Amino acid sequence: MCEYKLVVLGSGGMGKSALTVQFVQGNFVEKYDPMVEDFYRKQVEVDCQQCMLKILNTAGTEQFTSMRDLYMKNGQGFALVYSTRGPSTFNDFQDLREQILQVKDTEDVPIILVGNKCDLEDERVVGKEQGQNLARQWCNCAFLESSAKSKININEVFYDLVRQINRKTPVEKKKPKQKSCLLL
Ligand code: GDP
Ligand code: MG
Repeated sequence: MCEYKLVVLGSGGMGKSALTVQFVQGNFVEKYDPMVEDFYRKQVEVDCQQCMLKILNTAGTEQFTSMRDLYMKNGQGFALVYSTRGPSTFNDFQDLREQILQVKDTEDVPIILVGNKCDLEDERVVGKEQGQNLARQWCNCAFLESSAKSKININEVFYDLVRQINRKTPVEKKKPKQKSCLLL
């Protein structure tokens, strides 16, 4: 079975853990330790193909940039999560994306920009078009608004990354490696 190493990134409080847990376990967590960085596996079927997703849910607490470099190097697809409720973290994202492209040494990295908490329409600070504009600036990268609470676009975020990875690497070439690496 093909393996996909996905990384969920973004500032604290944006809903990275809630989004990941909703996808993997199908429930919404109100409180999740913000310092916890954890790792999940989930088998799913995407476009009639069984896939093993290995998801690293980061906490932004890496003490050493070398740790970041390592998961960027090992990760194949990246979900960059902000909250539509703000504050806007687009400035951080610029750096984060550049770092990913630099570590990967290519412009062609599967990335999806995710505006989470879109259920909180009354508290919205970041407009949908702002997310769309940023995605456009990023060579038309994928973009979705999601809600971990209301289960909006949860599968779509992760499936989109799988499809992007598939487009980049034909399925036959993605057999898992013998040795599993440190973080993923
Ligand atoms: P993380 O630090 O990025 O991992 O953020 P968490 O997943 O811990 O979420 C931070 C807070 O936002 C928690 O209180 C969550 O319950 C809440 N939250 C996360 N996603 C959503 C969402 O889609 N809608 C709403 N209303 N709240 C959310
Ligand atoms: Mg978290």
